[in-house]
Amino acid sequence: MWIPQLSPNFEPRQELVQYVVLHAMNMPTTQDALNMLCDPQSKVSSHYVVDRDGTVYQLVSENCVAWHAGESAWGSEKNLNRNSIGIELIGEPHKPDGTYTEQQYSRLKVLLTSLKNRYGIEPHNVVGHSDIAPERKTDPGAGFEWFRLEQDGLVERPNFTEHTVYAELNDYGYQGSEAAVRRAVMRRLGIKPPISVLNP
Ligand SMILES: [Zn+2]
Repeated sequence: MWIPQLSPNFEPRQELVQYVVLHAMNMPTTQDALNMLCDPQSKVSSHYVVDRDGTVYQLVSENCVAWHAGESAWGSEKNLNRNSIGIELIGEPHKPDGTYTEQQYSRLKVLLTSLKNRYGIEPHNVVGHSDIAPERKTDPGAGFEWFRLEQDGLVERPNFTEHTVYAELNDYGYQGSEAAVRRAVMRRLGIKPPISVLNP
């Protein structure tokens, strides 16, 4: 199902789309998440929301900039809102490293395939919020199974491990303090930390 629900939180897009940023919201209900993304006071939004049953909500036109990434960096690219599409996954309520459903992965594959075909997005440029804002964000969390998207060539298979030296992680794209980058790398590799605090 595809449900449009327009958010007032957007601005005109001036640049070509080159990135996709994956997020998660682990709020009590999907409606809570939609309300927040459509509340003019919140100043946040995303282009798409993929619910746990596979329903896709579109909140902002792809031709406009949604406010999902905030202060962010990937390689030399900074503040990725202007040239990215934001996709929020509805996570398990209050579980920052919770799992996602088969329906979500299958809808996400359809959506990413369409975006890749239409914008020529490189697999390296499909990133998690915690990859591009490791000091501030943890979503979509260590429970998100990136390898499912690697198999279809929609995201890049990481050429790093948790033991890779910081300079190489930096070259790969990660910006921020070594400690924060290492935590982001663990999440990307699906290694759950002992304690994790959600900050979507
Ligand atoms: Zn996020």
